[in-house]
Amino acid sequence: MVNRVWVAVLMALLPTVGGCADEQVPSPDGGMETHLATAGEALEAGDTVGYRDHLRAAVPLLPVGALDRPFQMYRLARAEAMTGNPDAAAQWLQTAWDENIESMMISYARIDPAFAPWLDHRAIAPVLEQMEDHAITVDTLAPGVYRLDAAGPKLLAVAGEGATLLIDAGYAPAAASIRRAIAAVGAPRVGYVINTHAHEDHVGGNAEFGTQAVIFAHPAVRDAMRETQPFVDGVTVPARSGDALPERSIARDTTLSIAGVTVRVIPLPAHTDGDLLVYLPGSHVLHMGDSFFPRTGRGMVFPGSEPERFVERLRGLLNELPDDTRVVAGHDPVVSLSELREQFARTVELVERIRTSVDDGLSVDSTVAVLGPEGFRESWVRYLHRVMGGGDRS
Ligand SMILES: [Zn+2]
Repeated sequence: MVNRVWVAVLMALLPTVGGCADEQVPSPDGGMETHLATAGEALEAGDTVGYRDHLRAAVPLLPVGALDRPFQMYRLARAEAMTGNPDAAAQWLQTAWDENIESMMISYARIDPAFAPWLDHRAIAPVLEQMEDHAITVDTLAPGVYRLDAAGPKLLAVAGEGATLLIDAGYAPAAASIRRAIAAVGAPRVGYVINTHAHEDHVGGNAEFGTQAVIFAHPAVRDAMRETQPFVDGVTVPARSGDALPERSIARDTTLSIAGVTVRVIPLPAHTDGDLLVYLPGSHVLHMGDSFFPRTGRGMVFPGSEPERFVERLRGLLNELPDDTRVVAGHDPVVSLSELREQFARTVELVERIRTSVDDGLSVDSTVAVLGPEGFRESWVRYLHRVMGGGDRS
């Protein structure tokens, strides 16, 4: 069960993994995957030492730069905390912070029962204090349009008349740094926020910005935030209320004028049931949320649980956008529209091939045997075969 939850969470965070960690990283002896799976089983059985030891064995096998490395380092840190090693826990949190891939993930320590006895510990407290002090990297994509790297998630700040629109709110502890970065480029205070989906790295700052800003999101985001949300290994993100909740719902393709800036918001559930894409027609910038990992996704756009519907809708949008559109991804570098189109074409090909396979009654293993050698990742083939009606036949 824990393992299944872990896979579900990892998929939610990193759809590119597709629930099959062996493909994420080369691991000639398969040792890393085995250790990660066994760690989850040990925790489920109440064996916290086994949980820690399997993570100790697995984490060094993850190459620096792998997108799930900070996530697994976080798990190891909490396992060290649970087994009475706060110094080791602090070291892993610090390493996750220093490697600067998804640094702000360490903020989960503040809501994680594993760390509750240690939050004031002399080694752990200073590691967590760094989060409020983070210097955010800002890239100007167009006049008044800024991409912020909020220690993991990539946000857009769009300076309007008298107010700035923020696309995604980052993790909660990043809010002060985000405000400083926006002030430093001379943009007005944040008056509006659009959340691309309900995950903590995109809505955590809502509570802070929501006191002064109007927050827009898909209605599913508000619903999700009113419930506790699973994170990893039994840790949950608390339910939200008040200013943290989006007050304006966008469920249809909508063009808004926000502080004098024209903004097109396109609901396209895939990564979650409440994803929004956001396009700025005045500057030819598209924010894809977490539906697109151009670098770490290795050749795929994540089409979610209704792949054919997703493909049809995204195809329509990509045909409409100007060729010089730049594409912001939730956790990856900015890419050109042609790169998104190429990766999307590969996704479309896979979805079409799997449709044929399912309609022909081909089992998932036979489908993998055909598509694997053509470079389609096994985890994607298995996932799509299942959600497209192929069942679990093998
Ligand atoms: Zn994200």
